[in-house]
Amino acid sequence: MSDADEEVVDAGYDEWVTAVADGEGYYLECENDHGSLPPRRVCPHCGSLDIAEVPLPEAGEIQTFTVTHVATPNFTEDTPYAVCIARFGDVRVTGQMRDVAVEDVEVGLTVEIDVAQTETTGDDLVVFRPR
Ligand SMILES: [Zn+2]
Repeated sequence: MSDADEEVVDAGYDEWVTAVADGEGYYLECENDHGSLPPRRVCPHCGSLDIAEVPLPEAGEIQTFTVTHVATPNFTEDTPYAVCIARFGDVRVTGQMRDVAVEDVEVGLTVEIDVAQTETTGDDLVVFRPR
């Protein structure tokens, strides 16, 4: 991947990360109560165009996680770290676990969502903290 490729940003997702960082995280819900994360114009579950922003629940639960010991160049100084999928209401969010040793991360852990910076590049990323 060239540097130019890495400059390409997904504005919808970046706006969402900013909202999460401001404590105003949200998800999208269609008329049939299907949850999804932005950017979306159409419900990925039923194709509905009638989607609205709904506040993200404050507490999520870790559903699965992977501990990375050998990372891609953008994350080399962050290792070891746990990338988790947590369920917040109707949506599943991927983030890096913080404030817990990787060996103590477990399925069922209750977490809250936040935004922090990677150790390696200082880029923003979604993180989870124990709650
Ligand atoms: Zn739907």
